[in-house]
Amino acid sequence: MVVLAIGGFDPSSGAGVTADLKTIAAHHLYGVACVTALTVQSTQGVRRFETVGPRLVRETLEALVEDTKPAAVKIGMLGTGSVAAEVAEFLRTSPQENVVLDPVLESSSGATLLDDSGVQVLRTDLLGLADIVTPNVPEASKLTGVDARDLESMKAACRSLIDSGARNVVLKGGHLPEPTDLLAERQDNGEIAFRVYPGKRVETGNTHGTGCAFSTALACNLALGKSLGDAVLAAKNYVAGALRTSYAIGKGVGPINHFFSD
Ligand code: PLP
Repeated sequence: MVVLAIGGFDPSSGAGVTADLKTIAAHHLYGVACVTALTVQSTQGVRRFETVGPRLVRETLEALVEDTKPAAVKIGMLGTGSVAAEVAEFLRTSPQENVVLDPVLESSSGATLLDDSGVQVLRTDLLGLADIVTPNVPEASKLTGVDARDLESMKAACRSLIDSGARNVVLKGGHLPEPTDLLAERQDNGEIAFRVYPGKRVETGNTHGTGCAFSTALACNLALGKSLGDAVLAAKNYVAGALRTSYAIGKGVGPINHFFSD
């Protein structure tokens, strides 16, 4: 079964498409990838990036889906509005199954990974084209203006994203004192069903790429046929295991262990 990862290239392979391919392999699925941007990056942070031409991105996506039928698609770093718009147009003309949108805005080292016009495309187009969006707390706050810091404000942020067109949201609480995640599922009657996933913080300095791994593991578990609720739980357990078994490879923030399996 094929899973398609769309995102940036991190040469240290803690985040981005090469990390996604490792996560997909760890789920015993076949990963294919479309690179949207090349970043200059190590465990010590992102220095800068250049995007791939939007046409090249579009042609890559079209070549891949003409040939294979992805069981899930994970969208990560897009870089600019023109790349984001091309990915949105691709999804409109070639609708895909199990589309997981990780709204990557900034690296944890503070580098901007999506420009302002890209944030606009994310809000107006991509949110509504994905099956689920996976913001962390800073991303949810930037996208909604809601300062998510406890369960009630997390619910408000999820509601706001759903009002803006998202079908389902998993808001990752890793930046909060208690790393609780919240799944908000839009029901057929328009109501929102919430499920809370309490977590235990794993004490490690090797956290680079945690968000990428979560959204890709979620895509893999959806590809494998799990329900949204069970896929979120499996992705959370995968990331916790990958954090627990991680090891440093450089001088900065080390990557998680993408090859973790139960
Ligand atoms: N580089 C790429 C290509 C990414 O996609 C991301 C995040 O999604 C990052 C860097 C930042 O990762 P982190 O914030 O874990 O350092």
